[in-house]
Amino acid sequence: MTQAQTEKVNLLGLSVEKLTAFFESLGEKRFRAVQVLKWIHQSGVDDFSQMTNVSKALREKLAEVAEIRAPEVLGQWDSSDGTRKWLIKVDGGSAIETVYIPDGERGTLCVSSQVGCSLDCSFCATGKQGFNRDLTAAEIIAQVWIACKSFGQLEPRGPRKVTNVVMMGMGEPLLNFDNVVDAMNLMMEDNAYGISKRRVTLSTSGVVPALDKLADVTDVSLAISLHAPNDELRNELVPINRKYPIAMLLDSAKRYIERMPDTHRKMTIEYTLMREVNDRPEHAEQLAELLRDVPVKINLIPFNPFELSDYQRVSNNALRRFQQILLDKGFTVTVRTTRGDDIAAACGQLAGTVNDRTRRAERYRNAAQAVRIVG
Ligand code: SAH
Ligand code: SF4
Repeated sequence: MTQAQTEKVNLLGLSVEKLTAFFESLGEKRFRAVQVLKWIHQSGVDDFSQMTNVSKALREKLAEVAEIRAPEVLGQWDSSDGTRKWLIKVDGGSAIETVYIPDGERGTLCVSSQVGCSLDCSFCATGKQGFNRDLTAAEIIAQVWIACKSFGQLEPRGPRKVTNVVMMGMGEPLLNFDNVVDAMNLMMEDNAYGISKRRVTLSTSGVVPALDKLADVTDVSLAISLHAPNDELRNELVPINRKYPIAMLLDSAKRYIERMPDTHRKMTIEYTLMREVNDRPEHAEQLAELLRDVPVKINLIPFNPFELSDYQRVSNNALRRFQQILLDKGFTVTVRTTRGDDIAAACGQLAGTVNDRTRRAERYRNAAQAVRIVG
């Protein structure tokens, strides 16, 4: 790539406000932003010459100073259950993963926010990969763009396949706050993807100061990755709990929900079940007590194994027992079915190729090898 190309402004990740400011800086009218936004996100166009309602002179000017650049797709896999996974190359020698999960009328896209993750939850493949960097807003929204394009959704009268987005791919979205907010706003923008705020979900392991700020800038749905009913166990599974313990996290999440304009909203509590770790009846009882006054629906996720992990999936019996205890206490409890297992696209299995800056991946591999030698 030439120097001139790298200096161009990439319009793909610009929110309406930023795109409007960009056109104003060129001395152009504000409405150009909406025109171009529609070309990019509703027609999938990445070449200014195709923007036929924009004057030729402006198209030429745009081609000189700007570009619409999505990262390269390295691979695309389809599971026998309809799940589709993309491996997407990002600058800096790493690759991230994005997954599409169809379910009846609903099609959910699981989007990544970072290359790897710095938080190192003990049961998560992404955490084990270490961390490289935040994704740009362009790289985040590009995942939606790439998925929609691959389904023909951005063509006139194309099918509407991506109906929901969950920020549950690689990374902790609240640690990449501004870029994630910009990208989510584009997902919900009528002149872009037009997905309703109820159908865009941010999932967090609990970065409380960032969660406290979230309601100032957005009102997407919220999922909290809890995984344990007490601090002692959660400290072990989700290390950020040592900094922001459960009570603090639930208070912050409650405040977020209370500020939502829609009074009936609930947060989702995600609870990954691992055999003999957090799946016992007393854990369910404790969880029910903890969440007694919190507006929640609970999503139980059977642990998905991956290479180098010591945990095991919950048994069906323990899963049903756990769910029943919560149902009996009046909670809404769903169980996330495992999808895309045959293409390693299940929750928590997304690893991508992280050019790790933390050397964590190396330490894990060495530790695992040592165990194998000793064992
Ligand atoms: N960092 C954010 C979002 C990405 S993780 C968060 O932690 O919420 C998305 C979800 O997958 C989280 O609930 C996470 O706990 C869960 N998860 C991680 N590893 C898993 C595994 N091996 N099996 C099942 N779920 C897993
Ligand atoms: Fe990061 Fe979420 Fe994985 Fe924890 S579960 S390591 S926060 S991606």
